[in-house]
Amino acid sequence: MAVEKIFCNVCGQEIEIKDGILKKDLFEVTKEWGFFSNKDLEIHKFAMCEACYDKLIESFKIPVQIIRKTEIL
Ligand SMILES: [Zn+2]
Repeated sequence: MAVEKIFCNVCGQEIEIKDGILKKDLFEVTKEWGFFSNKDLEIHKFAMCEACYDKLIESFKIPVQIIRKTEIL
């Protein structure tokens, strides 16, 4: 089985994937910029590890909205 690799774009930490399963969770962003941006026709992709994500959201003036999932069994 091929072992793919994903890196956190912020700190460069490697996040290993084995058999299509991430060994650690991460924040992945794919943004397709549109006509009203200065990046029309560009798609930006990056990933962040959880530690870098936490640092990022700590810097927000308005905190992220957290919705807790309640398990329905
Ligand atoms: Zn990181």
